Amino acid sequence: MNYKELANLIFPDVKDISYYEEMYPERNLPEGAVVTRFAPSPTGYVHIGGLYQSLAAKMEAEKTGGVFFLRIEDTDQKRLTENAVTDIVNSLKVFEIAPTEGMISETEWTGDYGPYIQSKRGDIYRAYAKYMMEQGKAYPCFCTPEDDEKRTAAQLAAKIRPGYYSVWAKCRNLTLEEMAEKIKAGEPYIVRFKSPGREDRKIQISDGIKGKVTFPENDLDIVIIKSDGLPTYHFAHMVDDHLMRTTHVIRSDEWLSSVPLHVQLFKEAGFKAPKYCHIAPIMKNDNGNKRKLSKRKDPEAAVSYYDELGVPPDAVKEYLINIANSTFENWRKQNKDAKIEDFDFHLNKMSVSGALFDMVKLFDVAKIVISRYTAEKVYNEGLTWAKKYDEELVKLLENKEYALKVLGIERGNQKPRKDIAKWSDLKENISYMYKEEFDKISEFNYGTISDKDEISKILKLYVEKYYNKEDDKQTWFDKLKDLAEELGYAREVKEYKADPEKWPGHVGDISTVIRVSLTGRQNTPDLHEIMNVLGEDEVKRRLSK
Ligand code: GLU
Repeated sequence: MNYKELANLIFPDVKDISYYEEMYPERNLPEGAVVTRFAPSPTGYVHIGGLYQSLAAKMEAEKTGGVFFLRIEDTDQKRLTENAVTDIVNSLKVFEIAPTEGMISETEWTGDYGPYIQSKRGDIYRAYAKYMMEQGKAYPCFCTPEDDEKRTAAQLAAKIRPGYYSVWAKCRNLTLEEMAEKIKAGEPYIVRFKSPGREDRKIQISDGIKGKVTFPENDLDIVIIKSDGLPTYHFAHMVDDHLMRTTHVIRSDEWLSSVPLHVQLFKEAGFKAPKYCHIAPIMKNDNGNKRKLSKRKDPEAAVSYYDELGVPPDAVKEYLINIANSTFENWRKQNKDAKIEDFDFHLNKMSVSGALFDMVKLFDVAKIVISRYTAEKVYNEGLTWAKKYDEELVKLLENKEYALKVLGIERGNQKPRKDIAKWSDLKENISYMYKEEFDKISEFNYGTISDKDEISKILKLYVEKYYNKEDDKQTWFDKLKDLAEELGYAREVKEYKADPEKWPGHVGDISTVIRVSLTGRQNTPDLHEIMNVLGEDEVKRRLSK
């Protein structure tokens, strides 16, 4: 009995790997093109970290004229949830991080290197497991789960490293005849990798993000094919990234310590290992402590949360790239209207310890992103969000012509309004522009001037003598100054500040009274524009209320 015969006994009807090698040839891409992927498990929860990784991978691929593809890793059949692939595909699409190749629905894919879902690749993995076995680099293992438990317990009791290696690797030392006999007798088995490594030797890896890292060599005979016939993550990773011709494995740094094993698998199989780039998790400042953004504790870890809040996807994407490369912020200042894709992204500028994710900063970025939208776009996106989450807002937006005027206030100019960070802010932001909503306001806080009679006097005089709907902005403002002067207030704030004793207040206080009467609030976008949109009748009605 030799290894070839043993491999034939175990895998009688799998194809020779030459079949797959031909079917999935080297990609025809420009020199230096990066082929990379996002390879999530379909567990029904899209984590913001997944978007972050995908964005980095996609930026790197596009920069080099390469490929970014989506592969679904569903070999752990216990963890699967319904529609999880669809959720992943849609999230990438919504955030404009869509791959160029790979899964596009639960069952379909595009691209020449599929299937891009591991559960459909069983024959391929078995062909490569057979190929490893033929060379004596894999062997069947008949240890039962109970054997494994006993072994681990013995190792722990003896205070030595747990695992299947060296003298503990019982089946490694069976003769080929013994192995064949057990197979023929129908004994259940799994397939293990025969590691040539030694724990006392070191291996140095040059990670694309972390830099040089040193680890002990791998000496574990890890499982490559499980009892259900499917591969383990490690083996599937080697086979898939080899056949899909991945050049860069960009993934979460929880896998960093597996690199010695992965490099060894590639080497033993005789394939070129990809470049590894390990991304540190997104962090959060929790009362002064920096910790990982947690699926359990932090709602903002879930991608769905941004949809619920109505933070536009392009704002989230812009913020993610902001924390991925700190040089982005400056670049953005100089390239206000450029596409994110034009930014010269660098994997090796990503944080080694984990970028800090801050909702307040995200909202600041979102405010700027939304400030660049046209009123039409704000209307459309706001309405789409409202239809899903806020019926009252849908009602407010019913009259599109009027809504566009409201949303157009201080928009499309040099210094557009920056008061909307998310669609869930919208109702609160525009409600006072609607009669029924305005009439619900019961408390008016006028600021410095609080005397009721004085307020009435100001408003009365304004309506009777100074308000004219035809006035342009300058005339309108000059008239506010005239009004201030007639009532004994300072025309200019400067004047007032020079001698505060001399006046009861200044033109700003007067305009606040008018602003509050018209909107119910002291801070609003441009009041002149607001008055134009409200129209003469409504302005007069509110001022004389
Ligand atoms: N399925 C693995 C995960 O979700 C992928 C790791 C990789 O990108 O290789 O963590």
